[in-house]
Amino acid sequence: MTILILEWSNPLNKSCAIHFSCVSQLFIFCSVMLHLSQDVEALRGELCRKDEECREQERRLAALEQQVQERTGVIVQLQQQLEEAAQRRQELQLLRDGEETLSRQAALPLQVKYVTKTVEVESAQSKQALIEAQAHNQALQEQLSVQRQLLRELEQQLHESQRSSSQLRQQILVYEGEMERAQGQLEAEMQSLEEEKNRVIEEAFIRAESEMKAVHENLAGVRMNLLTLQPALRTLTCDYNCLKRQVQDFPYMLEKAITEAKQEICQVIGEVSSANQELLRKYKREMNLRKKCHNELVRLKGNIRVLCRVRPVCAGETDAADTKNKVTFDPDDDAVLYLSNKGKLMTFELDKVFPTQATQEEVFQEVQSLVTSCIDGFNVCIFAYGQTGSGKTYTMEGVPEDPGINQRALRLLFSAVSEKKPDWDYKITVSMVEIYNETLRNLLGDNPNEKLDIKMCPDGSGQLYVPGLTEFTVESVEDINKVFDLGHMNRATACTNLNEHSSRSHALLIVTVAGFNSSTGHRTSGKLNLVDLAGSERITKSGAEGSRLREAQCINKSLSALGDVINALRSKHSHVPFRNSRLTYLLQDSLSGDSKTLMMVQVSPLESNVSESVCSLKFAQRVRSVEIGPSSSSRRQAESSSTSSSPTHDA
Ligand code: ADP
Ligand code: MG
Repeated sequence: MTILILEWSNPLNKSCAIHFSCVSQLFIFCSVMLHLSQDVEALRGELCRKDEECREQERRLAALEQQVQERTGVIVQLQQQLEEAAQRRQELQLLRDGEETLSRQAALPLQVKYVTKTVEVESAQSKQALIEAQAHNQALQEQLSVQRQLLRELEQQLHESQRSSSQLRQQILVYEGEMERAQGQLEAEMQSLEEEKNRVIEEAFIRAESEMKAVHENLAGVRMNLLTLQPALRTLTCDYNCLKRQVQDFPYMLEKAITEAKQEICQVIGEVSSANQELLRKYKREMNLRKKCHNELVRLKGNIRVLCRVRPVCAGETDAADTKNKVTFDPDDDAVLYLSNKGKLMTFELDKVFPTQATQEEVFQEVQSLVTSCIDGFNVCIFAYGQTGSGKTYTMEGVPEDPGINQRALRLLFSAVSEKKPDWDYKITVSMVEIYNETLRNLLGDNPNEKLDIKMCPDGSGQLYVPGLTEFTVESVEDINKVFDLGHMNRATACTNLNEHSSRSHALLIVTVAGFNSSTGHRTSGKLNLVDLAGSERITKSGAEGSRLREAQCINKSLSALGDVINALRSKHSHVPFRNSRLTYLLQDSLSGDSKTLMMVQVSPLESNVSESVCSLKFAQRVRSVEIGPSSSSRRQAESSSTSSSPTHDA
């Protein structure tokens, strides 16, 4: 049963609620009546079913009576047969009597003898008669036995008929008993159903009566309420008319409001878009300012910066001679390094010195502003310079659990470019090149033994490019690792001893960062060259021969060329000898112009390496004096003018 409760939010709340309560009572009454009529319907159904059962029992009774009549007919037939059999028996009895008479007569011999005599005397006629009588007797005898047989059969039939009739009688009795029982049951059921029906009707009637009473009461209440509703209805009608008028006016008001809103929106859009334009202009100006500031910062630090990293003494190097502390640091100045050489304490001043305990992260902190400047479109070179075993590869590549500048730089680029989204869209590509014996090898190519050439761009821009150099676009650390693994594999396949080979060749990781700002249409392109140089140790030319001599010559040539190029740039010579080596030629556009260079001079702390450390540090100092401000440059100029522009080991 559902009772509807509605909430009405107008001044006629109360009257409407009353009205609804009457309606709900009417609903209750109707549903009770419905319920009762359903009950009566169910009882009627039950009655019909019982009637049907009664009729079925009557049909069965009629069938049984029919059977009884049929059996009675059979019994009558059997009785007729019985009577016939009795009649035949009587006839037989008569025959038997005749026979007995005959046999008795035959048993009277004397009389017969006498008669025989008489017969003998009289004629053959009597003999004939006797024979005939005997034949007749014989026939009668046979007839008698047949009749006897028949009689026995009839007697048997009679017995069977009697048995079956008694069985039928018994069955009739059983059926009659069943019928009586069924009729009794039926009557009892009908009686109980009748009682049930009466009870239900009575109950329903009582319920309906009480509900009717309640409905009547409610109806009276409703009538009362209806009387109070009338004034409310009047106010409602009044309200309705008022609303109707408002509704009629609504389209006009709406149209007016929409037009006004449209005008306001257009005005706001115009304001917003002009504010946007202003913001965009300011943003561009700020971006340019930031770029300039960053550039200025890098420039103030020096376009060519020289840092020094002293590697720690490794396990297995604890040779007594080597453990003496040859390299010391100034606790108050992180740009100074002391080296004790043949009893003399040499002082070297660089842009920064990393002591042995400096971590990879600390080293990277120092170079990260250079790395990010290539997002702004600057070209950057970071070189690791030093003798074999001084830690160049450790600084550039690092170890898997503590990666070096290469991997950290790429990670930083990823996070920096993702911060600039969605305004800027960047593409980062990497190439890996090895320069061995003045030939370029494509470390990411399908055939790493294929030699590459450096060519001038045909567009007249003066830019260089390497035809056939493989470039991979990288977007994640996984991509970087895949690229590094491929580069290492290709580098290893071309040589028998990778350690030795890598110390005799330069390894370059070239990262290109190309950006596009979709809102301003700006494009940038910067290149980051991360170079693990070949070992700078001097090779006594007299001792080396064959391929070893050629390797030494090539390394000397390229490192000297690097020194010469930096020197020419420093001195602002009109001619910079970039073409003197493949290394400087390849890096030409990343060394000249607005480019930034960082030289990480690696130093070994071992005593046995002191003379090589001196050479490396002298080379570092000369490189560092490039583009130093006028006040301090005179001192460094004087210092550098005493040596050749070539790297130390060539001096
Ligand atoms: P290079 O590349 O100059 O020949 P490596 O980078 O191969 O030298 O370094 C030589 C050894 O010194 C390597 O075993 C390397 O792990 C170790 N090494 C170099 N620098 C450090 C350092 N800062 N901390 C710990 N071990 C270092
Ligand atoms: Mg190395």
